[in-house]
Amino acid sequence: MTGSLRFACTGCGKCCTGHHVPLTLAETRRWAADAGQVIVLLEAFVTDGPGMPQEQREHVMRRSHPVRCGEGEIRVAVTFAAFNPGRCRNLDDNDRCTIYDQRPLVCRIYPVEINPHIPLRPGSKDCPPQAWQQGPVLIHGTQLIDTELETLVQASRQADRDDIAAKVALCQALGMTTSALKGNGFTAYLPDMGAFAAALAQMPEDAGAQWTLHVEDEALLANLRQQGLRTTHESPVYYAFIGF
Ligand code: SF4
Ligand code: SF4
Repeated sequence: MTGSLRFACTGCGKCCTGHHVPLTLAETRRWAADAGQVIVLLEAFVTDGPGMPQEQREHVMRRSHPVRCGEGEIRVAVTFAAFNPGRCRNLDDNDRCTIYDQRPLVCRIYPVEINPHIPLRPGSKDCPPQAWQQGPVLIHGTQLIDTELETLVQASRQADRDDIAAKVALCQALGMTTSALKGNGFTAYLPDMGAFAAALAQMPEDAGAQWTLHVEDEALLANLRQQGLRTTHESPVYYAFIGF
């Protein structure tokens, strides 16, 4: 992007509807304690192999964790998110957030992108046109001007890195060990929140589980199997495969 982009939130509440909100581990704990449902989204790649976007190498390596998969190794990225298929449970009738002062990092950062490789495109955001025609300069060129927001973005990226090993161990403890291949889709689990909260309280060690890649494309399947990786293309029962 060249030039400047202004922004001021209009408070329309659209970003609080129909979006699963990624949570840090600490936020996940609060969401679960508040009786919220968590959705778990999994994507994986082979280092310098299938699923790995080379141009994002450093970013994806830092927010992923190595796990066994058949005779090989894959790296898994885990997202715990607030399950919001409709209006967020914290959005009141006046489109105000009832936990505003404690809202998750991602809610504070929207509409700014957290992935440094994704440019901010107003057209891909929920904010109405007038939100982009008012307020202070948000971005100049590719530079985020608001230093407070920049701090939040860095905190979110850091939490991704800090939390990943614990999130993988939690997934393994709860049997959520089938991932999609990055760029090909996600697998999505809706864990029983009683069991999830108990695992969160326990914080299990990494017991070194075997992982499986859910891939439906036949050429891709053949490629992965050739590398000794464990794959499946059977209709899932305990998770959903969200293909791209
Ligand atoms: S927690 Fe608050 S800001 Fe975040 S999606 Fe829900 S209502 Fe919106
Ligand atoms: S969609 Fe944009 S303008 Fe509307 S509440 Fe969310 S951040 Fe504000």
